[in-house]
Formats: sequence, structure tokens, C-alpha cells
Amino acid sequence: MEYPLTLAHIFERAGKYFGKVELVSRRPDKTIHRTTYGEFHKRAQKLSNALQRLGVKKGDRVATLAWNHERHMEAYFGIPLMGGVLHTLNPRLSAADLSYIMNHADDRVLLIDDVLLPVWERFKNDVHARHVVVWTHGGPAPAGFLDYEQLIEPELPSFTPQIDDEQQAAGVCYTSGTTGRPKGVVYSHRSQVLHSMSACLPDALGLSMQDVILPVVPMFHVNAWSIPFAAAMVGSKLVFPGPHLDALSVLQLLHDEKVTVAAGVPTVWIAILEALDKEPQRWNLKALRQMVVGGSAAPQAMIEGYQKRHGLHVLHAWGMTEMSPIGTICRIKPSLHSLPEADKFRVHATQGLAVPLVDVRAMAESGEAPWDGKTMGELHVRGPFIARSYFNNPVEADKFTMDGWFRTGDIVTIDPEGYVRITDRSKDLIKSGGEWISSVDLENALMGHPAVKEAAVVAVKHPKWDERPVACVVLREGAKATPEDLTHFLEPMFAKFQLPDAFVFMQAIPRTAAGKFLKSALREQLKDFKLEK
Ligand code: ADP
Repeated sequence: MEYPLTLAHIFERAGKYFGKVELVSRRPDKTIHRTTYGEFHKRAQKLSNALQRLGVKKGDRVATLAWNHERHMEAYFGIPLMGGVLHTLNPRLSAADLSYIMNHADDRVLLIDDVLLPVWERFKNDVHARHVVVWTHGGPAPAGFLDYEQLIEPELPSFTPQIDDEQQAAGVCYTSGTTGRPKGVVYSHRSQVLHSMSACLPDALGLSMQDVILPVVPMFHVNAWSIPFAAAMVGSKLVFPGPHLDALSVLQLLHDEKVTVAAGVPTVWIAILEALDKEPQRWNLKALRQMVVGGSAAPQAMIEGYQKRHGLHVLHAWGMTEMSPIGTICRIKPSLHSLPEADKFRVHATQGLAVPLVDVRAMAESGEAPWDGKTMGELHVRGPFIARSYFNNPVEADKFTMDGWFRTGDIVTIDPEGYVRITDRSKDLIKSGGEWISSVDLENALMGHPAVKEAAVVAVKHPKWDERPVACVVLREGAKATPEDLTHFLEPMFAKFQLPDAFVFMQAIPRTAAGKFLKSALREQLKDFKLEK
């Protein structure tokens, strides 16, 4: 029972039991590369040896700037096994954020995709990584860089893990900065193992060796929700999409590889649903048993659209970088199976129940909010894979309470069954005449209108009411809707004061580096917007 919980156990298990299970990757040129956990097991150890030869010491951070593929997976294990700390960088961030993050983490080595070298060019002069190793696709790395294949080629395919105890750091991720400067969260070996255990449970992601998993969610976004670790633990086949995250490319992979579980943010699934609606017969998705959606709220209309029109099941999940990231997952309790269909879909669209090992509470001004499905409060969480502090960042210490909870900044209700429903991020709530208006509810409803592809609702300053909601709307190709149509559509679902004062039609809603609607940019865009009333 004194046995330490480390990624070494997961790694050895993958090598011993699942050596023949495939890891499939799509290359930038769209060709398919196939390998196995057996090969991965050897090559990751070669990488551990190579990093040691480069002078990486226990606790040193090793960064990656890469899409999802099997060599990134080698880094996921090769780095922490040799005592290094895996630091995934998000190539969609600005050069200023990337250099800030790399310097803050003090990364010693960078592993990078050749197709992302132009991103590196934009900030390389502002950072001091000692070695830059390139994952090329044919041909050696350009001058001045180390070539990954040449680097690991001479090394032995065996390595004794350099892990002193389970609390040692295995990885670090930075929040994508939706709420200010990116903040680093360090994951220990222990937290990664416990998170993987929790994620695989049947009422969580329910992963097993019967599964073929396609993480559309990038490996630079909270470790692809830690799917690579969980999949290696249970021996699921993995399918990596490389840089091709558009709907048609993902659909083709789902079809060709008979994927059973896929995971991504709502914007990805909204685009895929649109493609499926256009050509419902083109792809055979019979194997696909669940599509995990998280990162921002999954619109109910989308969940219903998949189920009713295509027989596909959406699994709504909520989490945060600070939580490794899975916090809640929505599955319907047996006691709710007899609910009328419309009510069941309403439950499906909630963020669900806390997964095992995660405690939740909603804190209102007067103290802990009752689980009545009505009283709003800020969601607090705690558990063995939830951060107790940010990496080298005393400024944000107030996010962690004296009694051991992390303050998520999300405003929620919790119903008597325990289902958590996010009504907003605290800074996105709209304050109108002393009442709160949930932007998430309005967006959800608007995306239920047949002409609306995407909607984001933000607060605009108002002289009398303090703030009023304005809806930014992207219409489907060829569809038409006027502000009056949309107001009319919302009226039965909302109180009058909750209806948007204006609708702004746009080509696209600006997105964060993680593919979420960037509401701060919309607020900035609408800062001088004149409301009529
Ligand atoms: P960032 O804080 O930079 O956006 P994270 O990925 O850690 O990066 O974001 C976590 C936040 O994303 C949560 O606090 C929540 O506001 C939002 N979020 C994640 N999943 C969901 C979901 N299923 N529904 C609503 N909001 C979500």
C-alpha cells in the first residue's frame, strides 16, 4: 500500500499489455502513420535517454509546441519518466504570451513540429531555450535545430525512471488567459494517475481497451484533457488528427478508424453537426458511442440535434486547467430515466455530476447555497487532482480559500440530485437593474433557432440599467433572420428584461486560443455601441 502513484506504472502497463494496440496519426500532408504502444514504449525511453544526454535535470521543464501525434505522445511519457516536467505550449497564443509563458516556466528544451516553426520565429528572440528539437516530416531539421529522429536514434530503448516520489512534478500547463495573464498549474505524478483513474470510470468518460479514442482537443490544451494518460492506462487505441481539425477531416477519421469516443470543444462539434446535416449518409459513425464536449457550454440544441437527427450521443463535461481538467460529467441517473424527453435533454445540457474524488460547493454571499437548482453561487472545488496554488504566482493566491477549496469563478446552481449547471463565468454575468442575466442561457436558446449557427451574448453599458445584453449572432450559410424574428423566438423562454436589447450580425465570433468565444474581444468591439432604449 506504500506503492507510489506515478506515470511509470501507466507507461509499463501500456508496454507490457497493449504492445500491439495501434497509435494512428494524421500527418500534415494528410497521410496516415501507424505505430503501436510497443514501438511507443521503446521510443519514449530513447527520448528519456536523449534528454538526459542533453543535460536535462530532475525538475527541469521541457516544452512542446505541437499538434496531436504519436511523437507528442512519446514526449508525454519520455519527459516525466526522466524526471523532467512536460510543458505543452499553445501555438494559437500570441507571441507575447508564448514568450511570457516560456520565460516564466524557464523551459530548457523545446520540442516543436516543423510546421509550427513559423510560430517559433515570432518569439524565439525573447526566450532562452537551450535546445530546440524538431519533429520533421521527411528530411533532417533545418540548420541550427536538432533533429528528433537523429537525436533519439543512437539511444537505448530502456530507461530506469527517475521519479523519487509521487508528488514530483510531471507536467505544467498554463491557462489560456481568458481571464488575464496565463497562470501555470503544476501536475504531480500522483495527480495524473488519480485523474486517469477517475476519468476512465464508467460514469465518467468510461474508457477501456475496447475503445478507439480520437482527441480532437489539442494535446496543448490541458493535456488533451489527460486522454493520452488515461488511454495508455487502459490500452485504448488512439487516433491523432495532427493539424487537421476541420469538420470533414475529423469526420473522415471517425469513419475510417471506427472511432468509439471523440472529444473536443463545442465549436468543433457545431461545425461537425453542420457537415453531418448536409450529408447524413456520407460517413458511417456506427462505432461512435459518445462525443465528449467541454471547454465551454454545449448548446442544448446541438446535443438534441446529434441525438435526434443522427442517433449520436453527446457527453457534456466541465473542467478547468486547475483541475487536470475534469470536474463534472453529465450522465443521466437511473432515477431520471422516466423523465419526459424534453426534460431529459435539459439535464443533458447541464454540466453534470462531480466525478469521484472531486468535491463541489456553490458559495453565495450568505454562505453555502442550498442544492435547490435555483440559488446561484460561485462554484468551489477540491480534490487530489485540483491545484492548491499557481506556479510561482503569489498574486492569484486569493483563488484558493483558507479551508482548502479552489474558487473557479464560475457561477452555478446545483440541483437536489447534484447536477451542476453553469449560468456564467462571474465576469460574463450581465447586471441589469440589479438583476442578473445569464449570457449562457440566452446563447443556448439562440443557438436553438434554425437560422443561427453561433451566438455569444455580452453586456453593454447602459445609463439607466447599468448593463444590458447584446447578442452577437452568426447565421448559417444562406439562412436569414431579423432581430425581430430572434426576439420573437426568445420571448416565450425569458422574462422581458432578460431579452437582448440588440442583435449584431457577424461573419465569425472571435475565439480564444482554446477555441472558446472570446467575450472580452466582443465587449471591446461593442464598447461604444449605442443602445436605443
Ligand atoms: P481558461 O480559463 O483560459 O478559459 P480553461 O480551459 O481552464 O482555460 O477554462 C476553464 C473554464 O472554461 C471554466 O472555468 C468554465 O468557465 C469554462 N468551461 C469549461 N467547460 C465548460 C462547460 N462544459 N460548460 C460551461 N463552461 C465551461
